[in-house]
Amino acid sequence: MDRQVIVDVMVTVHNAGFKHKHLKDRHPLIQDGNVRLISFEKATQEPCDRSAAIVVGGLEPYAEELECDELYTFGGVSCWGELHPLEVLDNPHALAELGPKSDSIEHRLEKAYTVIERYLEKYEPEKWAARQAEPG
Ligand SMILES: [Zn+2]
Repeated sequence: MDRQVIVDVMVTVHNAGFKHKHLKDRHPLIQDGNVRLISFEKATQEPCDRSAAIVVGGLEPYAEELECDELYTFGGVSCWGELHPLEVLDNPHALAELGPKSDSIEHRLEKAYTVIERYLEKYEPEKWAARQAEPG
């Protein structure tokens, strides 16, 4: 999935004065290079207050710097000082592998779990609650 294309679509939506409010990786549909963003039932009409440009692969801004929660979230999962694709949410071991090798794998894994849990709690509360309910 070409992230730049999807980011462009999201920026277009924000520039038009809307927030999607229900963004998941499965919602941008891509066919023949065209992106169609679906699931607007929770969208709201509100201006985007972002103060910085969105650059894929660029330096990660602080959330307060970007001043747009939705686009900030969409950038990825922040860990080890960089952004990682949202797929790491389902793979804490892969995220732990990306950490500094000077740190023990146990410690990196612990941090990966913490980062993922905080991310889900804040941005995907339904998924977070479902995971909390899982045994073990
Ligand atoms: Zn925005």
